[in-house]
Amino acid sequence: MARTRRPLIAGNWKMNGLRTDALALAAGIAKGLKQAGWTDRDLLVCPPATLVMAVMEAVGGSGVLVGGQDCHAKASGAHTGDIAAEMLRDLGAAFVIVGHSERRTDHGETDAIVRAKAEAAWRAGLLPIVCIGETLAEREAGNTFSVLARQLKGSVPAGATAARLVVAYEPVWAIGTGKTPTTAEVADAHAHIRKELAGMMAEASQVRLLYGGSVKGSNAAELMAAGDVDGALVGGASLKVDEFLAIAKAV
Ligand code: PEP
Repeated sequence: MARTRRPLIAGNWKMNGLRTDALALAAGIAKGLKQAGWTDRDLLVCPPATLVMAVMEAVGGSGVLVGGQDCHAKASGAHTGDIAAEMLRDLGAAFVIVGHSERRTDHGETDAIVRAKAEAAWRAGLLPIVCIGETLAEREAGNTFSVLARQLKGSVPAGATAARLVVAYEPVWAIGTGKTPTTAEVADAHAHIRKELAGMMAEASQVRLLYGGSVKGSNAAELMAAGDVDGALVGGASLKVDEFLAIAKAV
């Protein structure tokens, strides 16, 4: 079935990569995109902030997009160790991930904080990828849909349009565990997210919804074929050129 939304395959490198390896990874992905000649999908890499500029140079004019993994809500000020959306934009980034479950857990980020970060991304001219997803306990208690609805309402700012928003559904229990929901579970969650978005904004049918959680080359085709899935947010497998390209190919 033809896709109506442009697929996005995003790699979240997390806190991995020193210059040499990271630049080889970026160059390998850029080379793979050129060789494949894909013009119908977006490939995005989100390296650690320290490497954004070097990765921008390494991907050159290949078409590989570069993003940040997080940003502060404020444009500047006394926030030691933080990075502003404007700083990422200044380096050439086009996207920023906000509300990743590791940020929500490790740094106590609430929906309100995630929402402020998404607004900061807009202010700076970045496209935010807003992450949501239930924990295993929430799924087992039958609360998946209510958790997703609450996170969406709390994390997506007013004024969202399809061009200004990407949502990533990342079940917390599937991140880095090798476990994945069934395709039916992914399709159900994505359909629910789209329905919730429809109550919040006019262009909900055009918003790209990514699935994230243990996506790899061998399961990508199946997961990407689930209804309402427009691409993937990839952690571990995005650190290997062949795996990341295999996922991109499968979309
Ligand atoms: C992630 O961190 O966004 C992620 C999906 O990780 P992994 O692919 O390793 O599960």
